Amino acid sequence: MIHPDIESVIFSEEDIRARIAALGAEISRDYAGESVLLVAVLRGAALFIADLAREITVPVELDFMAVSSYGSSTKSSGVVRILKDLDELIEGRHVLVVEDILDTGLTLKYLLKNLASRKPASLDVITLLAKEGKQRVSISCRYMGFTCPDEFVVGYGLDFAERYRNLPYIGVLKPSAYQD
Ligand code: IMP
Repeated sequence: MIHPDIESVIFSEEDIRARIAALGAEISRDYAGESVLLVAVLRGAALFIADLAREITVPVELDFMAVSSYGSSTKSSGVVRILKDLDELIEGRHVLVVEDILDTGLTLKYLLKNLASRKPASLDVITLLAKEGKQRVSISCRYMGFTCPDEFVVGYGLDFAERYRNLPYIGVLKPSAYQD
């Protein structure tokens, strides 16, 4: 059953599950003998970090940040404010930032600069989605789930006006859902 506001499903629940299992296995190999601190950027990455953590076999800790990007709900401005900072100190730790979607990359660019100044042992990024041809700043993403078309997508943590985060798949909204 597809939600009536969804025009098309881009990644099904099964696609997402399989890709995250593969990413978890890759991370477990890459961080063998270490422990990794997963840092999710709230709120979109909450579902992803929960599923990803369960696919990683090396010791994992979780921490969360919340940022707000000034601008409209569908456009990033690159001006970022930290609403909730990490609870953990990250100096000397292996930090993997968990993002939902890389659009312009402006949010992440700011965040990485901020985190790098705290002197982690390593600082890498995993993003579930990256929009094709949209990145305005270069971000080196060590792990990526899928590339997706340059459309506004929702589901699996991604919202439009706080809705649709609970859809188990990722899809494109019908234009009518934007209008009311
Ligand atoms: P960026 O700074 O342009 O890379 O924007 C990153 C943030 O904007 C993401 O972490 C999302 O919260 C939000 N975002 C960008 N594109 C979408 C989308 O298609 N659907 C839902 N949220 C999005």
